[in-house]
Amino acid sequence: MGGRVVLISTYELGRQPFGLASPAAWLRGAGATVSVQDLAVSAFDPGPVCAADLVAVFVPMHTATKLAGPVLAKVKELNPRAHVCVFGLYAALNAEHLRRLGADTVLGGEFETGLLGLYRQVVERGERPAHQTQPLVSTERQAFTTPDRTGLPPLEKYARLVLPSGETRVVGHTETSRGCRHLCRHCPVVPVYNGRFRVVPEDVVLADVRQQVNAGAQHITFGDPDFFNGPAHATRIVRRVHEEFPALSYDVTIKIEHLRRRGDLLPVLRRTGCVLVTSAVEAFDDAVLARLDKGHTRLDVENVARALDAEGLPFNPTFVPFTPWTTLDGYLGFLSELARLNLVDGVSPVQYTIRLLLPAGSRLLELPDVAEPAGAFDATALYHPWRHPDPRLDRLHGDLVALVTEAQRVGRTRREIFADVWRAACPAGGDPPPLPPRRSPPPHLTEPWYCCAEPTEEQFFRL
Ligand code: SF4
Repeated sequence: MGGRVVLISTYELGRQPFGLASPAAWLRGAGATVSVQDLAVSAFDPGPVCAADLVAVFVPMHTATKLAGPVLAKVKELNPRAHVCVFGLYAALNAEHLRRLGADTVLGGEFETGLLGLYRQVVERGERPAHQTQPLVSTERQAFTTPDRTGLPPLEKYARLVLPSGETRVVGHTETSRGCRHLCRHCPVVPVYNGRFRVVPEDVVLADVRQQVNAGAQHITFGDPDFFNGPAHATRIVRRVHEEFPALSYDVTIKIEHLRRRGDLLPVLRRTGCVLVTSAVEAFDDAVLARLDKGHTRLDVENVARALDAEGLPFNPTFVPFTPWTTLDGYLGFLSELARLNLVDGVSPVQYTIRLLLPAGSRLLELPDVAEPAGAFDATALYHPWRHPDPRLDRLHGDLVALVTEAQRVGRTRREIFADVWRAACPAGGDPPPLPPRRSPPPHLTEPWYCCAEPTEEQFFRL
């Protein structure tokens, strides 16, 4: 019998984690007995952890990394003998912190090879290295294998897709690529992949989609940081998926620059079942966009919004309206643009409150006007806290967080919340700008969390 491995995910945006299914396949292929736990939708199970030789915790994003802290403490308490690894995009960014919490090995980037090497070293050969021997970050090409989803909670337990008709769909999740060709300054992918991206072979993606459809998926979220880093690869995959599963819908995340340059591919997306295109617009202010190194302008956003509209592809823009460069007028300008482009019905109200996150290694800290207001890295919060040079902006941010939270709790509509936000942000009072005719809201996923959200106590209590 092979060694015993436990793979744990704390949170992956309401999706069944590819980041557990993929290494599970590699490790089982090597003969390991692998048990998987997704604490976002199920309770912590101490039994397999107590018996494990290797416990590996997956941290693909900020919130997951915060939630990993108490998990690591519990694992160390239950089984001090096990080798503990933390892996995923945020692992390398927070390596020092994770080691302090008890991680013996930290793996970032393309982690499957490192995990397999670790298993062979510490479980099969029984070595106890004094220092980490696997690379902290690897972007080497890997020979992917079909993810093994055995033992993960059923897809029904994860976020659903809600269509404008009210119909809900069971959602599966896979990836056609990792990393990114681009170097946007605020992006956590950049310090790890540094402009590289790695593809998952077509047949592996197809097999993963197939097994999730067989498990009940009616919709697939392609979780790539950017679906059009390799547009030929991506469109070959969606064509093949659509041919095999014509009723399956899907959603993707694509940067504005790619949507602008590859407008010729929008009809392909629509014809193959795409029902939602998410894009990180971040801002309408060209000076802010230049600082973020986003590679697009306000005009590009407008043109892309119109092109998506013309193609009948619902647009899910996301924003970071609170930055060290935001002014009160600029914030009102952001709201005015949403109204002018008729995006209010499509924008989730939480987007009015998103505040720039400065994780460890952020390229933004290269900018003096970010480095100056930013504090030292906060090992509890896992980011560099920052204050706006104009305290009115920090007050407004706090007020809007409370306002949007309460408005959503009592069920105010998106248009009502937009008006509430406008009045709170407009120091001279006054009515919000008139909105164009109402649109039906685009499809959305029933996942209320965002990358910069704080974990709730309920998450910790599952331990
Ligand atoms: S395009 Fe998206 S994933 Fe790529 S660096 Fe920019 S923000 Fe990150």
